Amino acid sequence: MVEPLRIGVVGPYGRMGAALCELAENATDLRLVARIVEPGQGGGVLLADLKGLEFEVLVDFSHREAVAGHAAFVARHRIAWVLGTTGLTADDEAAVAQAARATAVFQASNFSIGVALLTDLAARAARVLGEDADVEIVEVHHSKKRDAPSGTALTLARAVAEARGQDLDAVRRDGRSGLPGERPRGEIGIHAVRLADIVGEHEVMFAWPSERICLKHDARDRKVFAHGGLRAARWLVGKAPGRYGMAQLLA
Ligand code: NAD
Repeated sequence: MVEPLRIGVVGPYGRMGAALCELAENATDLRLVARIVEPGQGGGVLLADLKGLEFEVLVDFSHREAVAGHAAFVARHRIAWVLGTTGLTADDEAAVAQAARATAVFQASNFSIGVALLTDLAARAARVLGEDADVEIVEVHHSKKRDAPSGTALTLARAVAEARGQDLDAVRRDGRSGLPGERPRGEIGIHAVRLADIVGEHEVMFAWPSERICLKHDARDRKVFAHGGLRAARWLVGKAPGRYGMAQLLA
């Protein structure tokens, strides 16, 4: 019999962490061996108290403040790392890149398969339409979300910019107010809406004279992301050090 994959979950009492723990506990091919909590929080273990032998993969949807410490831990112990936390700074991203030299790291701003497909479709539309089409991205999330715009909105914007040969930072506009003036050709607008308990909606709109295409994805349950996170965990263990994402998982 194949031994179940031993996993550790960060933030077991967070929205995503709770969904991950519930699915992992009910999966016969996984064994949830560590619920990793913050200092001062009960009901689990501190990463600092672990020896690195307990589990093969760390599934981490927590907070950006924890990223650098988790990166050092997985690199030191050569543990695979599934990272779903968003809102990372450039320093956090550098720590992730550093960890990926020592171990396999799977990072995605959105673990839903539908969103991976949406990203693909948006890039294709952007390639065909070029800068003749105005593009606006609208994301809607629950009122407790801390970062904005969502990591997924940025991934979508980046996919559109790359497909049109643009540098996203040079063409993005986050919201509008006051007197922003006429919309420049090639601009990519990004808008964040916060509403009650919405799990996550992303819409990419392409418009040019007299025509409009709207590509929209709606995630109704955060289990979508937890399923994707655990699928990534199963896929990642045993892979060579490096960075992996949804494109490789779905290839
Ligand atoms: P949440 O606030 O409900 O939970 C966050 C959890 O992280 C809590 O359990 C908290 O105790 C823990 N935490 C915070 N700081 C910590 C630290 N320093 N060390 C250890 N644990 C710490 O948030 P959530 O809605 O579960 O989202 C968590 C993260 O996952 C966010 O960054 C969110 O944007 C991201 N997210 C990503 C995806 C995706 O598909 N990539 C999907 C949903 C959410």
